[in-house]
Amino acid sequence: MNNQYASLGICEKAIECVERAELALADTFKRIDNIEQLNTSRVLSAFIDEGIAPRHFAPTTGYGYDDAGRDSLDRVFARALFAEDALVRPQLVSGTHAIYTAVAGLASSGSTILSATGTPYDTMENAISNGPASLAGNGVRFESVELDGHGKININRVLKQLRELKPELIYVQRSRGYAWRDSLSPEGDMAALFSAVKAQRPECTIFVDNCYGEFTSDHEPTLAGADIIAGSLIKNPGGGLAPTGGYIAGKKALVERIAMRLTVPGMGREVGSYAGSYRPFYQGLFMAPHVTAQALRSAALYARVFLSLGYDVMPAPDAARSDIVQAIRFDTAEKLISFCKSVQASSPVDSFASPEPWDMPGYASKVIMAAGTFVQGASIELSADAPIREPYTAYVQGALTYAHGKLSLMKVVSDLMRG
Ligand SMILES: *Cc1c(COP(=O)(O)O)cnc(C)c1O
Repeated sequence: MNNQYASLGICEKAIECVERAELALADTFKRIDNIEQLNTSRVLSAFIDEGIAPRHFAPTTGYGYDDAGRDSLDRVFARALFAEDALVRPQLVSGTHAIYTAVAGLASSGSTILSATGTPYDTMENAISNGPASLAGNGVRFESVELDGHGKININRVLKQLRELKPELIYVQRSRGYAWRDSLSPEGDMAALFSAVKAQRPECTIFVDNCYGEFTSDHEPTLAGADIIAGSLIKNPGGGLAPTGGYIAGKKALVERIAMRLTVPGMGREVGSYAGSYRPFYQGLFMAPHVTAQALRSAALYARVFLSLGYDVMPAPDAARSDIVQAIRFDTAEKLISFCKSVQASSPVDSFASPEPWDMPGYASKVIMAAGTFVQGASIELSADAPIREPYTAYVQGALTYAHGKLSLMKVVSDLMRG
């Protein structure tokens, strides 16, 4: 056998191992490709219905009054995400910022937010309770109902808390984040929760942290009854091309209200320019169903290979996925760290760098991040990260192309076999 990958440090045994796993995934890949087809159709319709033209890509400056590129990008995103309206902004600096802006824009002082999916993603912790600008500092109470022993929503407990705490807003996290649990599907888990919540407390607003979930299914939480969703443009919906930014989408009246928190009451969405081209945001959204499918295929391959090597993985290789994240469990911190180093070494950018655990702003424990990405920190690009805490779990996600995901896995397995 002529090993064309030898220059990447990939050995014959690793190629065999990965290609065997790939053969077993034919049905899973077919399902993923079908989702891509449906989502591409919806995104394409959104572009056509909004009459997108080159003039929408033009940069703007200053206040950004009548910024056609900005305003039509909002509408294309809204259509693509089954929403009435959306705010898509490079000024939303991250997913956390988009989530905080949405939630802080809706929660009034003295009100309560109830998380139905346990403690939110690490970066939200400070936003909820740390200091005068946090939700707590603004007089908003935040309570959580933990997931049950199987990582599922404890609907009975949520309904009980709904009666007792009378929350204004229910907070739901679609992705596993840094937790050993399944992602929530819009058509299954969320639909069940949302109809139960609305039946008991119709005035309650349902918010979903949709990070990592966009286009993994042909449903979005909005279709299942969520009122507002938010996410990052350097994850799925940016298609690997958006250079920065976040989005908030949902019911029109709520989006308008959040726009006042995004900028200034009385100005809202009417202001905000972007001196770069809007083209990467549009083109990124157009690419997003495809790139997300590539990431899903890579995740399934990582799962199948590591399962075959005797590791615990979550989700299982053939599982229906509602986020792009694959969790893999290692028995020591050293193995976890060397896994991340192998991923870094197989990246197109900064392949020579060696990631080390560090105190990343907003995270509770030290975190190691392998991200040899074109857009800094973009996790729709192949990346692996892990909080350094027991049990030692790596969260790997992304890959702009399946071929790259597969090559990185061959590299990871080669390094593992070499020990
Ligand atoms: C990535 C992520 C966030 C935060 O997004 P950043 O862009 O990193 O700030 C929030 N929630 C979930 C589930 C995420 O995956």
